[in-house]
Amino acid sequence: MAERSVVIVGGGLVGSLAACYFAKRGWKVDLYEKRQDVRQPEHSCLVEHRSINLAISERGFSALRRLDPLLEARVRELAIPMHGRMIHALDGKQTSQAYDVFGKHINSVGRNALIRVLLDAADSYSWVTLHFRHELVDVDFDARRATLRNAETGHQLDSSADLIVGADGAYSRVRQRMMTKVMMNYSQTYIEHGYCEFSMAPINDAFAMDPNHLHIWPRGSFMLIALPNPDKSFTCTLFMPWRQFDQIKTGDEAVGFFRANFPDALDLMGEKSMCAEYARNPKGSLVYVKCTPHTYKNCAVILGDAAHAMVPFYGQGMNCGFEDVEKLDEIMLATLQASGSESTETTQLTDEQLLSALDEYSATRAADTDAIVDLALDNYVEMRSSVISYSYLLRKQLEGI
Ligand code: FAD
Repeated sequence: MAERSVVIVGGGLVGSLAACYFAKRGWKVDLYEKRQDVRQPEHSCLVEHRSINLAISERGFSALRRLDPLLEARVRELAIPMHGRMIHALDGKQTSQAYDVFGKHINSVGRNALIRVLLDAADSYSWVTLHFRHELVDVDFDARRATLRNAETGHQLDSSADLIVGADGAYSRVRQRMMTKVMMNYSQTYIEHGYCEFSMAPINDAFAMDPNHLHIWPRGSFMLIALPNPDKSFTCTLFMPWRQFDQIKTGDEAVGFFRANFPDALDLMGEKSMCAEYARNPKGSLVYVKCTPHTYKNCAVILGDAAHAMVPFYGQGMNCGFEDVEKLDEIMLATLQASGSESTETTQLTDEQLLSALDEYSATRAADTDAIVDLALDNYVEMRSSVISYSYLLRKQLEGI
């Protein structure tokens, strides 16, 4: 087996999937993650300002399946199907809108549960080493060397590899460093809305609402959504302009706001719990990033949010990051096989072939990821506002039958 190695920066959803893919193709993998290992019981609730659960779609499952159908099956076991949206009107009336006439659907999955499965899968290869509490400090791409700081000891260390993968999220340091090497077109935009999460506990050991829907309370310029969890709770997320968050300062004001806009959800959450969470839970900002290229020579590539952070309204940020990993693998394998090799070990790519694969990846992928970033933005208007008129039209249509 040819010796090829990769350093992956970021052990989030995309970095851990990338570690599995490279390992499957024979690469020696060193993954560096600045946080603790979420699989350790004492760090198991480390979600850090991100959604507790996520919608995983066929795009995400496809990437898991290509890696290992058993892994896909394991994630499907953790996921709760959501066959449509449930629109909650102000008067409490609920309207179901199926996602697809043939039953295609999205699924709710816990972020931490998913990441644990992926880290375990990466760990199962003896040639993968996971380094937690190691933060990337700098990269010298041409020397193919990453410099990291060990948070336990404070010491810096260098890690060298044939390829450096940046899967270090929306504020990627790998991307920042790459910008100094290539003529990268780049934009970063914050939208004027933020978000805050709330929990809706089970009632009498049962889901408080239908678990097989993504629940939406569309209210024009803002909205509440809820996704089901395996413990029969829901995680609700309020998306709203910052100026409105700023106006709600006291518990009474929060209750007044929920009572006026989401009375049915407030009854299910309970005033006390909602108030405590409004005061305690962080309010997150929403940013999107576009950049091109996503690669530097045959030395580096950025994947996932590092290359294309998007607003969450299309539920595709992680799914799209998983697809990045799948596409990169497809292109690397096709490049190898076009050279006449029947091997599936992409470690056998020559330097020139690796360059050609990364060039092709960047040239084809950036247009797709830019498009999905735009679609995600458009879908906010759809979710918080257009669904109301759609449900109205649908009702009218049904009344006419
Ligand atoms: P991240 O998850 O950000 O992981 C990056 C990792 O890199 C982190 O673990 C971080 O600690 C580490 N890191 C960062 N810097 C360094 C460094 N210097 N050194 C070492 N490590 C570093 N997507 C969906 O597909 N479906 C959804 O339903 C969905 N809902 C969402 C809801 C909300 C509210 C939000 C905010 C996002 C949502 N997303 C959703 C998007 C999804 O969360 C992201 O697209 C996904 O997490 C991206 O994964 P990633 O691995 O690229 O980046």
